[in-house]
Amino acid sequence: MQIIEIYRSIQGESSFAGLPCIFVRLAGCNLRCRWCDSEYTFTGGKRMSAAEVEEEVARLSPAGLVEITGGEPMLQERELVPFMERLMVRGYTLLLETSGERPLENVPSAVHKIVDVKCPGSGEGGTFHMDNLAALTRRDEVKFVIADRVDYEFARDFTRAQGLESKVGGVIFSPAFRKDPTPHRDASNCQLDPRLLTNWILEDKLNVRLGLQIHKFVWEPATKGV
Ligand code: SF4
Repeated sequence: MQIIEIYRSIQGESSFAGLPCIFVRLAGCNLRCRWCDSEYTFTGGKRMSAAEVEEEVARLSPAGLVEITGGEPMLQERELVPFMERLMVRGYTLLLETSGERPLENVPSAVHKIVDVKCPGSGEGGTFHMDNLAALTRRDEVKFVIADRVDYEFARDFTRAQGLESKVGGVIFSPAFRKDPTPHRDASNCQLDPRLLTNWILEDKLNVRLGLQIHKFVWEPATKGV
């Protein structure tokens, strides 16, 4: 697999937020979201065998959570799927963070999928692979990164039209983060004020989770590898 980095930190998003987690970040992405904070994953990385990655994961922690992320990890599906199966046999709980653009039907059902649906403001709206809806279960979570009111209305309408609140374990509405964050560890770095987003969610009586990337409130927002 082509790997950017492997490290242990806390999980910043989803219903697992706040828990210690090992991150395996794969190289490469076929999308170019305007607010992407992971452009350093688009090229480069180090070629590692699945056994080498597994060894490094075990060195960092013998048990617990592992998140597979990127870039877009499902671009390396052929090697990634058996790798995830091996980690689960060892007893790890697996999270897969994906853009939603790649087919997900081959992901093992025990993996917790955290699947983006790209909103218009990302510049990658319309890339969600609609057949992925059939692969989602109550184990999975769907995430919308929201930059403005247009994005919010898209996320709200998609959530309602697809019945996501009852279909998956959680729906996350997360304000987009600025491309050029200040060192301040506060909400001023969000493109959309989280208070405004919260008000909209409550006004519309949506049963969704406000998602803040808590690692950006623990470390300086531009810090990598945390
Ligand atoms: S899918 Fe993820 S890694 Fe790829 S461009 Fe969008 S935010 Fe960045």
